[in-house]
Amino acid sequence: MADPQARLDEMITRLKERGHRLTPQRMAVLKILAASEEHPSVEQIYERVKVDFPMTSLATIYKTVTLLKEMGEVLELGFSDGGNRYDGIRPYPHPHLICTKCRNIMDPEVPTLSELPQEVSRSTGYWIVSQRLDFFGICPQCQGKG
Ligand SMILES: [Zn+2]
Ligand SMILES: [Zn+2]
Repeated sequence: MADPQARLDEMITRLKERGHRLTPQRMAVLKILAASEEHPSVEQIYERVKVDFPMTSLATIYKTVTLLKEMGEVLELGFSDGGNRYDGIRPYPHPHLICTKCRNIMDPEVPTLSELPQEVSRSTGYWIVSQRLDFFGICPQCQGKG
């Protein structure tokens, strides 16, 4: 499991290096992204930031997330049915497991999956520059609901 504090420090350092201001709202967004395994949407981040900073606007959250995305500090997962989701813990391409009922998203820790890009590259001669691998299913909690 990743260390949220280490990931947070990393993001703060990157932002400072590039001369970006660290407002309290921006810090709150970073903290949420560094500690959220559940791949939150911008709206979900907004709801949580609003608890401590009621004056925050959705646009502010959106701008911060977009900035982090452009810097390669957050991975954006786009879906055709709307709602993009974000991974600030692992900001590089990796496989995802998505529950089609509750929209829970997690990173499956399966060793063979991490070897896939090299395998694909080896057997096709391609240089793999990016990848997108999504598994859709019903999570154990939703299975229990019948
Ligand atoms: Zn579910
Ligand atoms: Zn992820």
